[in-house]
Amino acid sequence: MESISPICIETLVNRITSYLSGNACKNTSIVKVNNDNLATNGELYFLPSLKVWTRILKCPDKCDGKCATILQHFLHIRDNEIVGKNDTDIANQVLQLLITSSNNWSMKIEKYTLEKERVCLFLQRTPLIENSIKAAINHKSDFGKTLSLNKVFTLKSLQDKESELTTIRLCLIQSVTENVLNQYGCKVSEEHSDNKFVFTTKSQGNVEKNYEKYVCGVVKNTETNCKETNLRWQDYIKNKVAELKELNEQKYFETQECIVKAEDYFIEKLAQATATFELLSAKPSRPVFIGCNFATDKNTTNTKGASFILYNTARITAIIERYNDKKLRGEYPELVHINDVDFSLLKQEEEWELVYNFIIGYQGMIKDCLKLKPTFQINPQIICIFLSRLCQKFSIYYRRIRILTEAYDHLIPTMIARIYMLYALQIVLQNALALLNITPVSRM
Ligand SMILES: [Zn+2]
Repeated sequence: MESISPICIETLVNRITSYLSGNACKNTSIVKVNNDNLATNGELYFLPSLKVWTRILKCPDKCDGKCATILQHFLHIRDNEIVGKNDTDIANQVLQLLITSSNNWSMKIEKYTLEKERVCLFLQRTPLIENSIKAAINHKSDFGKTLSLNKVFTLKSLQDKESELTTIRLCLIQSVTENVLNQYGCKVSEEHSDNKFVFTTKSQGNVEKNYEKYVCGVVKNTETNCKETNLRWQDYIKNKVAELKELNEQKYFETQECIVKAEDYFIEKLAQATATFELLSAKPSRPVFIGCNFATDKNTTNTKGASFILYNTARITAIIERYNDKKLRGEYPELVHINDVDFSLLKQEEEWELVYNFIIGYQGMIKDCLKLKPTFQINPQIICIFLSRLCQKFSIYYRRIRILTEAYDHLIPTMIARIYMLYALQIVLQNALALLNITPVSRM
């Protein structure tokens, strides 16, 4: 699948796998992606043991047994003498070739380390930071779209007659599916469709001709462990409003930069977002539990709810606005053009982790949301987890780093690079929330 952005971790993984195995291969999961502690573990790693690689080698290349690792085998099939060389020499020779080869790729490898059983690969950060921030800012609401999957889908949801919340959940899952399909360049239409799915909670019984069932779990009450049949959507929202008022959500805003005046309109929006998020935060095939403490809920994979995400989204917007206000008052300079920004100033580890996992990783997240083979599968909960992790990472960064500094000459270039990073993160957050049909509230 060809994508708009050439910076794609999946493409890089395929390239490395193909380069080392000598065989064009995709989605083998041999080269793995790290998400945390990237400075120590690298962005990617793989096990060199040949056992792991054997299944993807071409038949004529299958080893006669002399090689213990893919690195030895890499030299072996190129008629290089490996006898007498130790493992480290071989690894150094092959991995240096890999690095050189990656110079022609859009994601370049900078260095490697050899651990006991794994090879860790480290990427050249600055060009990736620069190019991915630019890609997000240039494509805005189209950022993350992949274009080439030219299919038409027809989607429907059946009502669950006993449970209004379950019916709403089915409709939400259908809606997210439509949004994700749009990201893939697919059409959702009643006509000329070969892919017809109906979202239902009933695994038994017939459905309309040519439709395939997508069986989803019901909404359950945590206390009774039964399907929630009494609570209506409107009351569920009312409860959420009450909960939110009680919670005093302002605690997320420690600084005075955005003093929160919780208005009813805002609380209502927040309640709807929270409810939507809850109903989507478990895998569709599983039931989702509502009603009390979510920390004990095994099916709800996220730990932070929509309000935490919306607060952090608003926080990013507030920082950008504050920069612009100060700029208008002449306290901060104009933002230089993005081509003149020195992105090498984004040296903080959290900055790279935000860019790598959430700006570069955004496209991969969209891909994980939808599987067409071997069977159709939609995963809205992946969007929830992604948003939750992004905001957790950002809130740690925000607590540690003062983004808007004094306007001293030596501080300004870094501040400007950070403002551009915030613009890119804002786009990612807005796009991901839009997939869930959640509109961010800009002023909180
Ligand atoms: Zn060999």
